[in-house]
Amino acid sequence: MTITGAVELLATWEAGLAEAPSGRALLLHRTARPDVDVASLPVLPVGEREADLFALRRALFGERMQVRLACSACGEDMEFDLDAGEFARSLGGRGGSGDGQGGSTGGQGGSVGGRDSSAGAASSAGSASSVGTASFAGSASSAGAVVRVRQDGWDVVFRLPGVADLTAAARAADPRAALLARCLVSAVRDGTDAGPGDLPVPVQRRIAEAVEAADPGADVTLNIACPECGEATRAELDIASYLWTELDTWARDLLLDVHLLATSYGWSEPEILALSPLRRRYYLELCADV
Ligand SMILES: [Zn+2]
Repeated sequence: MTITGAVELLATWEAGLAEAPSGRALLLHRTARPDVDVASLPVLPVGEREADLFALRRALFGERMQVRLACSACGEDMEFDLDAGEFARSLGGRGGSGDGQGGSTGGQGGSVGGRDSSAGAASSAGSASSVGTASFAGSASSAGAVVRVRQDGWDVVFRLPGVADLTAAARAADPRAALLARCLVSAVRDGTDAGPGDLPVPVQRRIAEAVEAADPGADVTLNIACPECGEATRAELDIASYLWTELDTWARDLLLDVHLLATSYGWSEPEILALSPLRRRYYLELCADV
């Protein structure tokens, strides 16, 4: 990943000020993935975005992430460190191998490639509920990656949900059903086409498991044991809002630095931003000494 310069990063922050959290997350994702067409970003699997954002966090602010959390049992304030690089790697991201089954396809309406079909058939011999995990085969992005589930005579191909899918589903009266309808590529029972409403609950559950296995970063849940009372607290880590908060602090600090240096030396903003952080720090110390 190329580390974005201070000027671009400030522009990202400025653009994000007027945005809702979802818009800020998209801006951060753009910064993390300049290689991907902007329109495709919301279609990438959610877990891939999370991995991208952890990688960006690491590139901008380093590995160590400090997290504060209140114990859900006794209210104790807990503070601990997480490793952004560890998350970026373990969440898979692009280029991850998965189990090598399945295939990614941009096709709609069941036009899944032959490679996927054969892999699914080969593995279904072994177990009653085989799951073809999606493979992120070398391409720049895994938009449209699918999982395949075969169970109880059903053969279902399901696209890994992206942020756009989750956002749209959340607005529906029944978010689960809406997500199922949006991401279902094809459902066949004993050779007959079926719709999302026909899927029995066990098959739906199997799809959810397959999606989670193929896109594990979609839900980053922390499980922290309290040092005071021993109870575990579960909390979701929203890397987008975490990173935004850091970027906000960084930008405001930087603008203050610009103000101080411009006042002292008469330099312009572009001149000051062109300085390395180390030199800025050095000149600021000199200002303070006077
Ligand atoms: Zn506690």
